[in-house]
Amino acid sequence: MEKQKPLPVEAKLIFKKTLTPDVVELHYESEPEFPFQPGQFISILVAGKGPGGRDLRRAYSIASAPELTRAGRSVFELCVKLVENGPGTQYLNGMQIGEKLKGIAPYGDFVFKPKAGRNAIFVATGTGIAPFRAMVFSKIFAENTPPSTVLLFGARNQSDLLYTDELRAALGNQGLVQALSRPEGDWSGFKGRVTDWLRENDTKIAWAETEFYLCGNGAMIDEVKQILSGKGVEKTSIHQEVYYKPKPGETHAN
Ligand SMILES: Cc1cc2nc3c(=O)[nH]c(=O)nc-3n(C[C@H](O)[C@H](O)[C@H](O)COP(=O)(O)OP(=O)(O)OC[C@H]3O[C@@H](n4cnc5c(N)ncnc54)[C@H](O)[C@@H]3O)c2cc1C
Repeated sequence: MEKQKPLPVEAKLIFKKTLTPDVVELHYESEPEFPFQPGQFISILVAGKGPGGRDLRRAYSIASAPELTRAGRSVFELCVKLVENGPGTQYLNGMQIGEKLKGIAPYGDFVFKPKAGRNAIFVATGTGIAPFRAMVFSKIFAENTPPSTVLLFGARNQSDLLYTDELRAALGNQGLVQALSRPEGDWSGFKGRVTDWLRENDTKIAWAETEFYLCGNGAMIDEVKQILSGKGVEKTSIHQEVYYKPKPGETHAN
C-alpha cells in the first residue's frame, strides 16, 4: 500500500468517554480528511507546554479503522492513558467538546502488512492496544484475515481492560487473550504477564509461521523480542511500536 505523506490536520473533539480509571477515548472529526493505514499515528501539537514555554509534540496511535465515518463525517479515535503531570495527556484530557487540536498525520511504519498464509499475534500492554484496534476493524484486515489471529493484551487487573466486548466479538474467545498480572477476586482468564503466556503456550504457537506485532511499554517489547529470538523467529516477522521506555526497575505490568 502506498505511504501517505504526513499533512497538517485540524481535528474537532466531538465525543469523550472514560474507558478505565486512567484511560480516555476521544473522537475527533478531521479537516481535511486524511488517509492513513491502520497502525499509524498522529503527531499532536501541545502548544507552549515545553521548557521555557516552547511547543511540544506528542504521538498518538489512531485507535479506529481508516474506514470509520459517522453520519458521513470523517472521524478518528484516540485511546489515551492519563499520565500524572504529563503535558500531552493533560492537554488532550482537558479538551472541551468542539475544541480543535492541531496535528500532523499520518506517521509510522507500524502497519498491518498482509502476508498470505501467515498467522498474526498482536501483543499489547495498556494503550498499546490502540493500533491493533485500528487493524482488527480495518478493511485491509477483513480482506486479508490471517489463518489465526491472537490479540494478547497485558494489564494489571480487571479495571484496566480495554475494548473487551468488541474485540471478543471480532476475534472470538480464542482470539482475545487478556493476561492480568494482578487480577482481583475471581478471574477465569490468564494470570500473569504477556511474556508468561507466550512461554506457557510455547508448544501451541506456530513460531515460524507467525507475524508478531508488539506495541506499548518498551520493557515488554524487549522481553518479548528475547523470547522470539530464542524461538528463531526472523527479525522480518517482528514489528514493533515502542510508546515509552520504562523507568529503572519498572516491569511491564506493575
Ligand atoms: C508512536 C507512538 C504512539 C503512541 N501512541 C499512544 C497512544 O495511542 N496512547 C497513549 O496513551 N500513548 C501513546 N504514546 C505515548 C505518548 O506519545 C506520550 O508519550 C504519553 O501520552 C505521555 O505524554 P505526556 O506529555 O502526557 O507525558 P510525558 O511527561 O511526556 O511522559 C511521562 C512518562 O509517562 C510514561 N508514559 C508515557 N506514555 C505512557 C503510556 N501510554 N502508558 C503508561 N505510561 C506512559 C513514561 O514513563 C513517560 O516517560 C505513543 C508514543 C509513540 C512514540
